[in-house]
Amino acid sequence: MGRPPYTVEEYQELAEGRGLYFLDLVAPLSVREDCLWKCKQCGHIHSKSFRTVQATKNGCACQNGMALAAKDYYELAEKLGIGWLDVIPPKNTKEETRWASKKTGRVVVASYKSLVYGNKISLRLKGLLELNNVSEQNGTDPDRADKYELRRVTV
Ligand SMILES: [Zn+2]
Repeated sequence: MGRPPYTVEEYQELAEGRGLYFLDLVAPLSVREDCLWKCKQCGHIHSKSFRTVQATKNGCACQNGMALAAKDYYELAEKLGIGWLDVIPPKNTKEETRWASKKTGRVVVASYKSLVYGNKISLRLKGLLELNNVSEQNGTDPDRADKYELRRVTV
């Protein structure tokens, strides 16, 4: 009946091809069972089955500039402590949209992609949106630095 379950190595191999890390130490018994993956780019943790990951070209929405829902934009804004001003999300994550600093009300035009990578946000954007530098808080540990641990500058 069917093939034996995939091994951890096979999960890791699939993860590699999709820009993900396979986080679980033990492979699930079924390819339909959800397990944990982490996006190499944005650090987002996904709970997906082997089959689901296998069926997609990229492991995470951030990697292919695909369309995201308005709620994803609101979620990112909330994580950063800023506001998202548009109501209709752009066609993809590379297209620019409007954000605003909650403190100064300054409107900044930037893509989702340019804001989603936590510690990789440009200094210009950090300055415009008054985002604190993640590395101050998290040192150089890359595993922690990519978890959007951005704080607003408090005065
Ligand atoms: Zn991602």
